[in-house]
Amino acid sequence: MHELPITQSLLDIVLDHASRVGASRVTDVHLVVGDLAGVSSDCVEFYWEIVSRETPAEGARLHFRRVPLQFECRECGVVFERSSEGFECPSCGAEQVHVVSGDDCRLEAIDV
Ligand SMILES: [Zn+2]
Repeated sequence: MHELPITQSLLDIVLDHASRVGASRVTDVHLVVGDLAGVSSDCVEFYWEIVSRETPAEGARLHFRRVPLQFECRECGVVFERSSEGFECPSCGAEQVHVVSGDDCRLEAIDV
């Protein structure tokens, strides 16, 4: 269960942003969640209700956008999604690849 600290830190960012723009109310929170992040949107919503209580973000709707896991080939620079065959580069066949997106959970936008 790592959703609680994630939700808490998302709330901190949201509240920080809301106070900077002078918003008294946050209505919508847009999140990007990578496939590999292992974050359950149900859990985040559950914790959100608890941690946002009595803050300007109380009652804000959460929107989740799932992004697929993407790799970049270290040899030729091609960016690709994981295929069922494995992690090799589909362009040159190299196995030296690294994750460029899909392993994180971050805030995309908030509506106030
Ligand atoms: Zn390649």
